Amino acid sequence: MTHKVLLLPGDGIGPEIAAQAARLLKACQDAGLDIEVEEALVGGAAYDAHGDPLPAETLDKAKAASAILLGAVGGPKWDKIEDLAKRPEKGLLGLRKNLGLFGNLRPAMLYPQLASASSLKPELVAGLDIMIVRELTGGIYFGHPRGIEERNGERVGFNTYVYSESEIERIGRVAFEMAQKRGKKLCSVDKANVLEVTILWREVMERLAPEYPDVELSHMYVDNAAMQLVRAPKQFDVVVTGNMFGDILSDAAAMLTGSIGMLPSASLNESGQGMYEPCHGSAPDIAGQNMANPLAMMLSVAMMLRYSLGENAMAERIEAAVGSVLDDGLRTADIASEGMQTIGTDAMGDAVLAAFAKQ
Ligand code: NAD
Repeated sequence: MTHKVLLLPGDGIGPEIAAQAARLLKACQDAGLDIEVEEALVGGAAYDAHGDPLPAETLDKAKAASAILLGAVGGPKWDKIEDLAKRPEKGLLGLRKNLGLFGNLRPAMLYPQLASASSLKPELVAGLDIMIVRELTGGIYFGHPRGIEERNGERVGFNTYVYSESEIERIGRVAFEMAQKRGKKLCSVDKANVLEVTILWREVMERLAPEYPDVELSHMYVDNAAMQLVRAPKQFDVVVTGNMFGDILSDAAAMLTGSIGMLPSASLNESGQGMYEPCHGSAPDIAGQNMANPLAMMLSVAMMLRYSLGENAMAERIEAAVGSVLDDGLRTADIASEGMQTIGTDAMGDAVLAAFAKQ
């Protein structure tokens, strides 16, 4: 079956790194992968062309695709748009909402060659490989009632932290299955000593556990998890948590690697359709200068092949190609270190393609 892939370059460095992903997809096609690649506009680029960060045409193409690859959206050029619904990030949020992308996979992985890029001691992080599974469409970010109102003569702000059993079970299953494919350890992060919603969260995780007897389930309060992430991060394999805790912990975990330009991410829905994108933003400070690290984007292609297209061998081939380029001492400016050769976006793309061809 021909897989349909939609490439959404977006804004800032998005088009530069998406161009490298497009070359990689072409190399995969040449190596026998049956895919059809289309492109469309999203974010600020779509606003400029159509007055809408998520035009109907883009959404239709996204719905019809097996997987979506997104560069990044946003930038100072669009920060002055008064109508919040027209801001570039609404393109991203609209895609998540319309496609029901509830399961966010945020790997924090450190290639051993880059251990010195972390702010932690190399021995604490070398070979780090954590997968944070974050619930993305529920929890306190979406709960009602919410608002700011006048009560007893002063303003009061309030939000609602809510999860249904079915929402917890759905993300729990993604996490258990992920743990089965990896190191078979799952740590569920909650605040069950204070919040009823996370008492339910913990109960549902416990209820699911017997269905995955090969996975060792543990629980951790979120404050301890934050501490453990910086104290001994390699103790974690798969971490599952709600939307807000996941937002914070996944960014902290990403920074453990010291190289945001290296990290891909995925957001999946119930039918396995996914959107894949680097963890970083549109980096307007370096856009158009051939300085962006394209590796997070190229590793997003690998993640897409693995999780939405079932093409594990091709995914491994890309990851091995990235490893070999790092072994060769090639670095973009964001991961540069002494004794290594600093190269630009295009040259990094060339190097990965050459290594891919040799795998
Ligand atoms: P950012 O991730 O874009 O940049 C943070 C720093 O990291 C910058 O110094 C940047 O140059 C550097 N950086 C990021 N990616 C890099 C790469 N691939 N190679 C080399 N260096 C890289 O975050 P920010 O500055 O907070 O946000 C910039 C814009 O991106 C904002 O408009 C923000 O809203 C948007 N944003 C978009 C997404 C997304 O599309 N998913 C995510 C976060 C931020």
